[in-house]
Amino acid sequence: KNADAAMYRAKSTGHNLYFVYESHMADNIDAHLTLGGGLRKAIDEEQFVLHYQPKVRLCDEEVVGAEALIRWVHPELGMISPDQFIPLAEESGLILPLGEWVIRRACRQLKEWRESGVAPLKLSVNLSSRQFMQADLVDMVERVMQETGVDPEYFELELTESMLMTDAQQSIDKLHGFRKLGLTLSIDDFGTGYSSLAYLKKFPIQTLKIDRSFINDLGLDSDNDAIVKATIAMAKSLNLKVIAEGVETRTQFDLLSGYGCQEVQGYLFSKPLCGEEFLRYVNSQNVVAFA
Ligand code: C2E
Ligand code: MG
Ligand code: MG
Ligand code: MG
Repeated sequence: KNADAAMYRAKSTGHNLYFVYESHMADNIDAHLTLGGGLRKAIDEEQFVLHYQPKVRLCDEEVVGAEALIRWVHPELGMISPDQFIPLAEESGLILPLGEWVIRRACRQLKEWRESGVAPLKLSVNLSSRQFMQADLVDMVERVMQETGVDPEYFELELTESMLMTDAQQSIDKLHGFRKLGLTLSIDDFGTGYSSLAYLKKFPIQTLKIDRSFINDLGLDSDNDAIVKATIAMAKSLNLKVIAEGVETRTQFDLLSGYGCQEVQGYLFSKPLCGEEFLRYVNSQNVVAFA
């Protein structure tokens, strides 16, 4: 099958060549053709689901929100992680319809939670670069929120530093557009990009999510701990909420608590869950789950 894919590539570019690929490379080409080719159909057939990872308030360990994370339920290959197909969707431009699907699905879920009497939970979705550059993104989000009737106060967007810094001035305008709709804005994977502190002050954002790589090393490397501590202190003085992603151990949790971090997300509490499992989790964890 891999060899077929390679041959297909060779023929379609008009070269009658025989390729000998290293196995990892053949796998990539195979994945590219199989996944990339199937993506359009997958969008038309809605072969996607959102999973929800709880966000937990550090002081009382109550679930206060969730991050929506997409999965492709492929008819033959099973569950495919976003790292494998979001880049393909970006390249092909299919991220635009796919991204809209994610926002609509998340808004519906949020609405469902509210209507079923679940305690107010905030839901965030990830945006990708190409999606963020889309000219009518703010209008699209507004339209979907109106269609689904969500309370914007409970809807949050996660953006990365590189996304924001590509065209900082344009980003600022866009972020203000979202703020006018009443949404909350968060910088994801904070510390891995190259946003300048000067811009951090100019971006109308409310939350910093410290990247998992820093959390992973907590308690193991004193320089790393100093960075996390300073990031939390800086966020606080800028009036931003801080959340740590990828929290896997009690030790990490306790250190973050000592540094004044407000929320955590990670396997220590839960991996991302399907809608039903997520509700069950919230009910088992929170003191007052249902109104
Ligand atoms: P992200 O936004 O930084 O999401 C956090 C990722 O870390 C998720 O991976 C989550 O499952 C994983 N994670 C959470 N807690 C832990 C932990 O304690 N340990 C470890 N090892 N991992 C943890 P996932 O779901 O595979 O998503 C990967 C990335 O794909 C996301 O990173 C995000 O950049 C992107 N992505 C996911 N869903 C969407 C989407 O709907 N749209 C777009 N544009 N990108 C998405
Ligand atoms: Mg995220
Ligand atoms: Mg992240
Ligand atoms: Mg990440």
